[in-house]
Amino acid sequence: MPDIQYRLEQVRRIEGTLPGPRSRELSARRQEAVASGVASSVPAYAADVDGGIVLDVDGNQLVDLGSGIAVTTVGASAPAVVARVKEAVEHFTHTCFMVTPYEGYVAVAEKLAELTPGDFPKKAALFNSGSEAVENAVKIARVHTGRQAVVVFDHAYHGRTNMTLAMTAKVMPYKQGFGPFAGEVYRVPVSYPFRDPEGMTGAEAARRALLQVEKQVGAGNVAAVVIEPIQGEGGFIVPAEGFLPALSQWCTDNGAVFVVDEVQAGVARTGAWFAVDHEGVVPDLITVAKGVAGGMPLSGVVGRAEIMDSVHAGGLGGTYGGNPVACAAALGALETIEEWDLIARARRVEEIIREELTPVAEETGIVGEIRGRGGMMALEFVLPGGKEPDADAAKAIAAECLAQGVIILTCGTFGNIVRLLPPLVIGEDLLRDGLRVFAEAIRHAAQ
Ligand SMILES: *Cc1c(COP(=O)(O)O)cnc(C)c1O
Repeated sequence: MPDIQYRLEQVRRIEGTLPGPRSRELSARRQEAVASGVASSVPAYAADVDGGIVLDVDGNQLVDLGSGIAVTTVGASAPAVVARVKEAVEHFTHTCFMVTPYEGYVAVAEKLAELTPGDFPKKAALFNSGSEAVENAVKIARVHTGRQAVVVFDHAYHGRTNMTLAMTAKVMPYKQGFGPFAGEVYRVPVSYPFRDPEGMTGAEAARRALLQVEKQVGAGNVAAVVIEPIQGEGGFIVPAEGFLPALSQWCTDNGAVFVVDEVQAGVARTGAWFAVDHEGVVPDLITVAKGVAGGMPLSGVVGRAEIMDSVHAGGLGGTYGGNPVACAAALGALETIEEWDLIARARRVEEIIREELTPVAEETGIVGEIRGRGGMMALEFVLPGGKEPDADAAKAIAAECLAQGVIILTCGTFGNIVRLLPPLVIGEDLLRDGLRVFAEAIRHAAQ
């Protein structure tokens, strides 16, 4: 694997207090100006970000184990992304692809078709956010099938627009008070090996879900089955082997579109281009966003050309969708993944995480499970001796990590999961340093 040159020194350092005086000043301004519904997990304000380091406005250097929620897979200032963005922005910031098209959009669509699984003709449409991609996948599936029902799963997260909130499972904080939500969305059980009956296979979990679909929705009414291949906000839940292939097969047999939401798990994050690749599953449509453009806002729906092309001309789009600067960033990010072999690095990140954290999990008894793939790993915290979720432990651990200068995120329906999403360009020493702080915090919480 090539060595990566960093601009910022890759060491953790707290200068005085966290947050420092300049961050506290910005917090005070924010209190007056920014709506309080928008919350931040880290109290420090960013000044510069490179590799695995977030440098704040007071000179603190934090270890980044969150990547701005799985976005900066290639780092937040990857040289190829920066160079291509500069080049693009000096020529034009926008024309609107629906008015005057440009090459970058076409090139990203070609690249997505090339990288996603399936050796059939594929096409893509580009948007701005993950939510928008998911919502458009539903629109496309409905037109293609002439049906309305959308099947989603327990613990799912698909975004915050009205349609995608209907698809998202968790009420607090995402849905509370924001209804009524879009109709024709049906939720069925997912495969959650840690909490399912002992020994339940992926095929059995799929049968449990699909029986409900057949009885409560009707197979002939289903436009799309939409699933995250590894659930993100819901708790980094990796379904039992065989679950995704069974859903895929059912969709084929019943004329429904199988949509896999790879917004969080996709684009090298799990040690493969797409998380479905681990099981050889070939979705009809895939949604991508987060990691695809090195931090610039870009998302897309990519999949079978005949499905993508069912929509009438002008039926898909949006003012900013596939913005030229964001497309340039995406080409830079995808090139970086290839040149720096970040897929192999994601696998190495998993090895290091398992190596550093398995001992502390065994020794403390509060870690129910370490799970995930590649650079998308999580620990599920439970009360000792059982499986009762322990959200307080996860919260306390994340807070202690932060106080020590390590950015770590929590997630999960029960709030008891700590997830690790380091930028894949993080150096091994810095990653181990961050994980050791995490391990110490777990030991504290277990006392
Ligand atoms: C983050 C996320 C979304 C929503 O993406 P936004 O860009 O925040 O709208 C959708 N699906 C999954 C799986 C996600 O992780």
